[in-house]
Amino acid sequence: MPIATVNPANGETLKTFDELSPEEIERRLAAADRAFRQHRTTTFAERTRLLDRAADLLDEDRDAIARTMTTEMGKPLAAARAEAAKCAKAMRWYAAHAEGLLADESPSEAEVRDSGASHARVHYRPLGVVLAVMPWNFPLWQVVRFAAPALMAGNVGLLKHASNVPQTALYLEDLFRRAGYPDGCFQTLLVGSGAVEAILRDPRVAAATLTGSEPAGRSVAAVAGDEVKKTVLELGGSDPYVVMPSADLERAVKTAVTARVQNNGQSCIAAKRFIVHTDVYDAFAERFTALMAALTVGDPMEDATDVGPLATEMGRADLEELVDDAVRQGATALCGGRRPAAPGELAHGWFYEPTVLAGVTPAMRIHREEAFGPVATLYRVNGVDEALEVANDTPFGLSSNVWTRDEAEQQRFERDMEAGGVFFNGMTASHPALPFGGVKRSGYGRELSGHGIREFCNVTTVWHG
Ligand code: NAP
Repeated sequence: MPIATVNPANGETLKTFDELSPEEIERRLAAADRAFRQHRTTTFAERTRLLDRAADLLDEDRDAIARTMTTEMGKPLAAARAEAAKCAKAMRWYAAHAEGLLADESPSEAEVRDSGASHARVHYRPLGVVLAVMPWNFPLWQVVRFAAPALMAGNVGLLKHASNVPQTALYLEDLFRRAGYPDGCFQTLLVGSGAVEAILRDPRVAAATLTGSEPAGRSVAAVAGDEVKKTVLELGGSDPYVVMPSADLERAVKTAVTARVQNNGQSCIAAKRFIVHTDVYDAFAERFTALMAALTVGDPMEDATDVGPLATEMGRADLEELVDDAVRQGATALCGGRRPAAPGELAHGWFYEPTVLAGVTPAMRIHREEAFGPVATLYRVNGVDEALEVANDTPFGLSSNVWTRDEAEQQRFERDMEAGGVFFNGMTASHPALPFGGVKRSGYGRELSGHGIREFCNVTTVWHG
């Protein structure tokens, strides 16, 4: 994939970038290594000052960086602004909480004595240079979610961002530099995915985090495994959205639309499979389809737009194939199922109509693959057991949503849902204080909260005889 800004709303190539040469990569690796030696010794007070400053600058830049994101990957401008604001909030959260999250821990006095020590404690130290391989869908948030805790822990970052968001990637490097971080603390590497292996194998790189597709995760984890380096993987998702008879149906339907089409349908934690109890299935399907069909598809720079283009031409082609395969095998498109019927000014962009598919069966690819666009699948079930069976019948296990006011049902879903999150009577959303991540093919490790910041720490036992 060339490193370039291509506007997905009209297919226009706006700017192209050369990949870094091996010499330039070497220079940045050396700078990261030097920066770590110094940054690891800084106090929490100093790290807090720097990250708070980065948050302030990001707030000042909000409109400009939002326009860059929308231009590069097509999310509606209001959503891009909200993403920038969320990043500043997460930075401030880690700036305020990192010291507490990484405070030394001590076993009980009796346990210390039992270990033969006069005193003993657990101390969190940074790991080193962490390589972050990131996707385009939340081009600021995915990076900040890694960078804020990593920098607060005393690590330094190397960002290999997706090739279609180079200007957002360069903005991030510039942001941390302007905030006062010393040279090498946070660097963007404009390289293609082919360069990742050599960078990860470099002895100066301690660990890697990847957010992206399963094939990318597998490939990075294989190299890291070979090098015995720690990884965190945040991969795809096909989250279930279960609606039981006790649900507040109107809220469940409205939230379902937002949960499915947020970010033009390209979110790992978007609800993708709507599993509805037969008692409320018809009412849900009718209202959901009506609201999905009424969404405004259009220029993401316009306030009136609900759903912009898909980020890449290939992404739209993949989505079309999934839908076509399902329809060929007997699924019904209750709405959508195609590019805009009368495209007009949308003709040159990578738009796709919000789509609801009913009658999906396990034989269809969309049953087990992730639909990365505004396409929802509907399933009719007869009770909790069947709802769980369908919900868990996926290779993924990122998050899940369940609409029920019945406490016994809530306990069943909480116990048996194979996912990194169970969100009741609402939709999945990340928050700095709550861990984020998945099981099964959605990856491993956690981001955000205390769990996230400790992923790239050397958990050191300090023992005194
Ligand atoms: P992608 O193709 O996997 O790309 C993600 C990043 O990995 C990009 O920087 C890409 O670089 C790089 N990459 C791709 N193949 C690689 C390889 N073999 N070795 C090393 N690096 C490689 O994913 P995407 O299409 O951008 O993003 C969509 C996917 O990300 C979806 O599956 C979505 O669910 C997932 N996602 C997960 C989360 C989460 O938190 N769990 C969040 C957001 C997105 P190039 O751009 O240069 O190819």
